[in-house]
Amino acid sequence: MEIYGEYDVVVAGGGTSGVAAAIASARAGAKTILIERLGTLGGQLNVSGPPGFAYAYMFNPRKEQIIGGIMEETHNRLLKQGLAVPHTTPDFRIGYSFSLVDPDYWGLMIFEMMEENGVELQLHSLAVDVIKEGDAVKGVVVENPSGRQAVLGKVVIDCTGEGHVSAMAGAPYEQPPKEDLEPHTISFTVDGVDWDKVLDYVRENAEYEFNPLTHPYLDWTPKQVAERIKKVKDITEISNFMGYFSLMKKALDAGEWHPYSGVGFFIMPRDNGKFQAHFQHSSQVGSADPTDVRDLTYCEIECRKQVTMALKFIKKYMPGFEKSYLSRMCSELRIRESRRIVGDYILTKKDVAEARKFKDVIGKSSFSSGAKHIATTDTLDLGGIVYPKDGGSYDIPYRCLVPKVIDNLLVGGKAISTDRDSYARFLQITMVTGQAAGAAAAVCTRKGITPRQLEDYVSELQAILEKQGVILYGTH
Ligand SMILES: Cc1cc2nc3c(=O)[nH]c(=O)nc-3n(C[C@H](O)[C@H](O)[C@H](O)COP(=O)(O)OP(=O)(O)OC[C@H]3O[C@@H](n4cnc5c(N)ncnc54)[C@H](O)[C@@H]3O)c2cc1C
Repeated sequence: MEIYGEYDVVVAGGGTSGVAAAIASARAGAKTILIERLGTLGGQLNVSGPPGFAYAYMFNPRKEQIIGGIMEETHNRLLKQGLAVPHTTPDFRIGYSFSLVDPDYWGLMIFEMMEENGVELQLHSLAVDVIKEGDAVKGVVVENPSGRQAVLGKVVIDCTGEGHVSAMAGAPYEQPPKEDLEPHTISFTVDGVDWDKVLDYVRENAEYEFNPLTHPYLDWTPKQVAERIKKVKDITEISNFMGYFSLMKKALDAGEWHPYSGVGFFIMPRDNGKFQAHFQHSSQVGSADPTDVRDLTYCEIECRKQVTMALKFIKKYMPGFEKSYLSRMCSELRIRESRRIVGDYILTKKDVAEARKFKDVIGKSSFSSGAKHIATTDTLDLGGIVYPKDGGSYDIPYRCLVPKVIDNLLVGGKAISTDRDSYARFLQITMVTGQAAGAAAAVCTRKGITPRQLEDYVSELQAILEKQGVILYGTH
């Protein structure tokens, strides 16, 4: 087999975790290559997204900034060009903070950053196997238009979202039974929205038509939240509206809505200072295994049927959307739940609830544990939800990035080691863990040690991360 090249660090998967890993690795001095199956970078941020809250949760409910590093840097860079919304921490939506970015300009900027940092790219290349000696990974095998090649590396980082590389390497993983998996979605965006009319409807119907989300750190009742929503002056104050319950019911009775997802949108900033409405809960297919190509194909077909129905519904039923038109049809399914690689530590729901701090902290999160998406019109099952205590945040330990059994391998992104409830599926966590995995891999190659051995030298990694602007200490 052709040897494509030899690197210190090979990152597989160019979504938000992968780009953060590659930049961090290169900045820490490692010769780094980033392999991506598509011709573009960003994954669920801009290919099958954006996430409705992209970026979000950079602050904890106490309004302390808990996420810096490459996420903050990229947000700043876009903000300066008018391509992002300033950090927003609404008084009535404690627990949520928005730092929205234009996903397409993000996709352009990230290529600039690859070049600036000396990351080599290998695009249009699917990692199909790993090269191993015993339990140690030595590289990945890719297939692309040039054929089949070996990309060798001292450390490989799995940022494929679904943990494909770790699974190929034989790392242990967990994935719920398919009947129980969260549903997958195809998202889309519409433009041509009359925002004044949208806001009028929202304000007039705040109490019954929408889900007034509360948070234990906020001692407002749902009624108080609804009262506050009635005073919203600008769409950016709230960022998303889920509900439209009476309209959805009417449409369901008329056979003009499907029973698999909810109605509502998230705002998406564009380069002219305007916003478009992004729908990411309006097609959902449950009981589908994202590691089974038959299930994936079925989801792609079924979601498109639901999107077609949703587009008709939006124009016909949603005030302010009468003249809307489809401006972005995401090209592929977004996977909501998949493998979690079992690492040297498994982050638990108890850790989240207790806002636990760890000696080997590599980043923070204030995201809740225990909520599940369901393929019904309710969309979310909040029955088991817990939040970090006192409006704080929890640490993510380095050991969650180190798969058990297999050496020279790290994981960044959604597939890091957590229990099911604490699945690291939100975008900010993928950038935090990606950056940490990249910096860790670079330290390993410089010291000639494995990622597992680095667990004994984690302060060296932490020093590099702090230098790269990552927030590790000093918040709740
Ligand atoms: C419907 C939905 C709504 C969401 N809403 C939000 C939200 O509002 N806010 C939020 O913060 N998060 C949200 N998320 C989650 C967020 O979008 C993801 O957690 C995040 O984007 C995942 O980043 P990642 O880097 O781990 O994986 P991905 O973005 O999936 O990146 C993986 C990359 O690896 C590539 N790849 C895969 N396999 C291979 C291979 N074998 N070889 C080479 N390349 C490969 C893929 O092409 C992709 O580019 C949502 C997710 C879903 C499904």
